Amino acid sequence: MKNISILGATGSIGTQALEVVEAHADLYRVCALTAHSNAKLLISQAQKFKPDLVVIGDDQYYAEVKAALPGIKVLTGQQALCEAAALPQAELVLTALVGAAGLQPTISAIEAGKDIALANKETLVVAGDIVTQLAEQHGVKIIPVDSEHSAIYQCLVGEEVNPVEKIYLTASGGPFRGKDREALAGVTKAAALKHPNWTMGAKITIDSASLMNKGLEVIEARWLFGLDPDQIDVIVHPQSIVHSLVQFTDGSIKAQMGLPDMKLPIHYALAYPGRITSSYERFNFMDYPEFTFSKPDMHTFRNLQLAYHALRKGGNMPCIINAANEVVVNAFLNDQIGFLQMSDVIERCMEDIPFIEKPSLDNYLETDSYTRIFAGDLVTKQAFLTQNIKY
Ligand code: NAD
Ligand code: MG
Repeated sequence: MKNISILGATGSIGTQALEVVEAHADLYRVCALTAHSNAKLLISQAQKFKPDLVVIGDDQYYAEVKAALPGIKVLTGQQALCEAAALPQAELVLTALVGAAGLQPTISAIEAGKDIALANKETLVVAGDIVTQLAEQHGVKIIPVDSEHSAIYQCLVGEEVNPVEKIYLTASGGPFRGKDREALAGVTKAAALKHPNWTMGAKITIDSASLMNKGLEVIEARWLFGLDPDQIDVIVHPQSIVHSLVQFTDGSIKAQMGLPDMKLPIHYALAYPGRITSSYERFNFMDYPEFTFSKPDMHTFRNLQLAYHALRKGGNMPCIINAANEVVVNAFLNDQIGFLQMSDVIERCMEDIPFIEKPSLDNYLETDSYTRIFAGDLVTKQAFLTQNIKY
């Protein structure tokens, strides 16, 4: 029995992880479940899976959750999230919460010696150097759940002594693939929320439409696999079957493939290093007579370029890009700004917020808070970068 804490249990990844756990109840037990504000779903999950600890982030729902779960310890607040991450009986912590909110609980889990099944890519974007160093110090594995990174991870099994020349992260291109800037200027949030291949939470769905998701994934890959920015390439593959590829120094390329179903990488991360039989639908070559690959359009989708720039610059720049992005995605979802203005606000934050070359954890947390205020202010004042766009 592997005891698992699931942070962000009510989200797209969290609920799919619980399906995996339920299908393998002989192998996995959930010891902690957390959610931010979806009290109803959290309660029903806790009644079904009977964890030792339940955490509801937003304290206005605390009384409701507590009253519904007699016999289960129920807590609220940021500190409680860290407690769920460091629960003594947990062997593996699935970080399926969204945004930089995942950073501190992930650090708590690592410091408590827990292996991490990492869906929350923002944690590595914000403070990848600190998080990966801590994991090394504590002998903790970070097993990626993100499908591209799971693919790379799987391709690297058995290749420990063989240097990687480069990796290719595949991108579906999102719902606006092939559109130019003129067309993007007027796209609605309803259109942006319709991903062609994956059903996911709102934030990552918008990130996929703007290619920021791929940008965040490039930074995530840099930390997971210890690569230089020049060793990480993005290639558009609209079928989303080849999940990513590794090229070795002899020129040979390995790819991992499968139908686009997040339960597969979740399943792999929970079972790692083993593989457990599943009944998921199998891939049929006859359904996909053609695979296509093309270059991403970084002129139209500037976020990908901004993310590469942030990665090359290093320091707190990826933290700035992440916080600014969280603000603009919210603003876009609240109809406060247009699709293209998201990149404009992000770029302005990258230009104007003080750069720190070697940030401490406190520097990252301060950068994150300050960027949110700064970007929020730009949105309120509708002060977008319209000239001197550099990237
Ligand atoms: P989601 O919005 O569906 O769910 C987010 C979960 O986090 C919910 O349980 C919510 O209660 C919790 N949460 C939200 N804000 C929080 C806060 N401030 N503090 C604590 N908990 C909070 O998101 P998702 O699509 O499941 O994505 C989760 C993470 O996994 C993201 O980092 C995303 O980039 C990554 N990811 C998701 C997918 C996918 O298919 N959904 C694929 C790859 C990676
Ligand atoms: Mg991904």
